Amino acid sequence: MERPFLFVREGMVIQHIRDIKLMQKRSLEIRQHGKSIGFVPTMGYFHDGHIELMKYVRNRCDLVIVSIFVNAIQFGPNEDFQKYPRDIDRDLKFVKQAGVDIVFNPEHKDMYPDNFQTGVSVGKVTKYLCGASRPGHFNGVTTIVSKLFNIVKPDIAVFGEKDFQQLVTIKQMVTDLNMSVTVIGRPIVRETDGLAMSSRNIYLSVEERKAALGLKKSIELAKRMVSMNENDCKKIIHAVKNELLSKSCIKIDYVQLCDTETLEPVEKIKQKTLLALAVFIGSTRLIDNCILDFGV
Ligand code: AMP
Repeated sequence: MERPFLFVREGMVIQHIRDIKLMQKRSLEIRQHGKSIGFVPTMGYFHDGHIELMKYVRNRCDLVIVSIFVNAIQFGPNEDFQKYPRDIDRDLKFVKQAGVDIVFNPEHKDMYPDNFQTGVSVGKVTKYLCGASRPGHFNGVTTIVSKLFNIVKPDIAVFGEKDFQQLVTIKQMVTDLNMSVTVIGRPIVRETDGLAMSSRNIYLSVEERKAALGLKKSIELAKRMVSMNENDCKKIIHAVKNELLSKSCIKIDYVQLCDTETLEPVEKIKQKTLLALAVFIGSTRLIDNCILDFGV
């Protein structure tokens, strides 16, 4: 028999829901009882970056729902969908510290049944950066996030600024499609040595892990240049690329300076300019970014 749902949080009780209809029913019940839902969509294999998002939501909403779904349609044919780290038992233990109420972990066959034929596609902001090097990636992201929003019915949904373009794209989608959810971005959480936390960091060998610090070093270099009044984007990009390439196992996917809202490349640093980086370290693709503040 189905366990009655608890609207009052009871210690560490976490519901693990796989069934889409059950998740929808729960969310409706929660909302009908006047409770707010905070949502953190993820692909799992949690680290402290994910946990920070969950804690942020915990402090603002009655119920915290986290989804774990490795979304096949946002991976390209030669990307790491098959080997992407998955460990639901580890994740369920991990989320206890974050006060999560429901972990929604649907199956691929239920999210994308054989006759699935709809996609959500956002325009210009998806054309740059990762959108240029990963064709179709953001269509996969906006399609799954739309589905998850329809199932979970959140009041607020929180995303990390580590995936800056994803955050901008989802905000655009929510505005354009009049979705009644507030999208909030949260700062990048880093390891103590400065590497941005990522589920993909476990792919790195010891040598590659050391080389990955090149990302942070190159960001620091760009910040220093801007603090010394350098505003020529070509010069900054050149210096950042040189810093990255000083590590033999790093291959650059892109280094770009862009407008923080439109993501269009800029030639001169403005008061706020996004520095976005994507590199391959061995076969692992990592991204990082920071906002450069000119004249601050
Ligand atoms: P993922 O499981 O990698 O799809 O990430 C799920 C959510 O966590 C996304 O909104 C990411 O932007 C966010 N996230 C991933 N890594 C970090 C990090 N180091 N700091 C902050 N947020 C992160």
